[in-house]
Amino acid sequence: PTARSKSRHLFHRAKAVFPDGTTRATVERDPLPIYVERGEGAYLVDVDGNRFLDLNNFTTLIHGHGFAPVSEAVVDLMRSGTCFANPTEHEIALAELLTARIPAIEHVRFVNSGTEAVMFAIKAARAFTGRHAIARIEGAYHGAYDWAEAGQGVAPGKGGWDPGPTATPAYRGTPPSVADEVHLLRFNDVEGLERRLGEISDRIACVLIDPMPSRAGLIHPEPAFIEALSNTARKYGILILADEVLNLRQSYGGASARYGLTPDLITAGKIIGGGFPIGAIGGRAEVMRVFGSDETKPLLPQGGTFSANPVSMVAGRVAMEAMTQDAYDRLEQIGDRLRDGLQACIARHEAAFSVTGAASLFRIHPKRLAPREFRDAYLSASEAALMRTMGRQFLELGILLPRGAAACLSTAMTDSDIDLILNAFDEFLATEAKSGKE
Ligand code: PMP
Repeated sequence: PTARSKSRHLFHRAKAVFPDGTTRATVERDPLPIYVERGEGAYLVDVDGNRFLDLNNFTTLIHGHGFAPVSEAVVDLMRSGTCFANPTEHEIALAELLTARIPAIEHVRFVNSGTEAVMFAIKAARAFTGRHAIARIEGAYHGAYDWAEAGQGVAPGKGGWDPGPTATPAYRGTPPSVADEVHLLRFNDVEGLERRLGEISDRIACVLIDPMPSRAGLIHPEPAFIEALSNTARKYGILILADEVLNLRQSYGGASARYGLTPDLITAGKIIGGGFPIGAIGGRAEVMRVFGSDETKPLLPQGGTFSANPVSMVAGRVAMEAMTQDAYDRLEQIGDRLRDGLQACIARHEAAFSVTGAASLFRIHPKRLAPREFRDAYLSASEAALMRTMGRQFLELGILLPRGAAACLSTAMTDSDIDLILNAFDEFLATEAKSGKE
């Protein structure tokens, strides 16, 4: 696919109305944003008529685009109203599904995005413990709440990595106090975690952790790290807040359940909305009481005009009901086939690449050794350029591959879609090997 004239024209119009021509910093614009005409299952069709296998959609659409059961349920619902200041049965049904499936969710509250879910979960941890600071994993992404985004990863300075234990605020003008209230831990670093939390334990409300942080490398949590986190948090009365906005899709019970983590609070989003805006804060009933109970006034009042809107509730329930154990098993199986195939390709070409991920998620790294944490996964300028080249080549072969984050599979994908990805990677490594020799 090469024709881009309509996308080019739309981008030109967009530049007149958006600060950089897009409404989100996360829109891929290399070489140009691809304006979508429609989605069809695992594929996107752009305004110029090009078809792309969609490995991006920010990991939201676990059934791909236009999943019929969701579309039909939502169309039905539209006729009877989409926004009420009253509760509906739909929110109870989705809550029942989540509490039945996800061990860490005894009670739940719905909001409209992952950012909002993480924000309220941090507030809940503060309200429950009476402590104001948090600890979080360096390099991980948790949305745009000031305290959640501080420490999402900065480039190493001239002297190498900053050994500083507190987080760098994410943007100019952030209140400096934010940095004092956010302490950094390195993923899979047991000794660092125990030492750091020991030093500041009385100030920390929670450890915010994504069990397999996508931006920090989409790296497996080592069992010893999970164990140390669990024991240290328990020892000091620190809550564990698992951010599963992205990784809930790793299994029927979510990611914490998969990796043996028992969080006090958990956030979800993306797949549980069936393609509509959603976020959820769940957790132990005792902790969730900060949002109120029959007898008590809330320590933490939480509202939201569109929170628990019936469209997201119904779409989410229908999408999640279709995620049976069999559906998760099949995703796991095509995910394994893809990751094994990519590894085999790397071995065949003796290329300096590696692959991380699990279930329906994968990430390709231009690194001979698979990274163990954010700093290992961090790309030098030349590695970043190489990944850009790879992304462009995939695009030319009709595949949308996100850069610097997790790529995702959906139940709409078939073995031939997996082959398409494997062939594209094989072709890319062959081109690279050739250009290296010239
Ligand atoms: N937490 C994690 C782990 C995420 O991956 C994301 C989104 N990529 C968020 C929070 C923020 O979610 P949203 O974009 O819905 O605000």
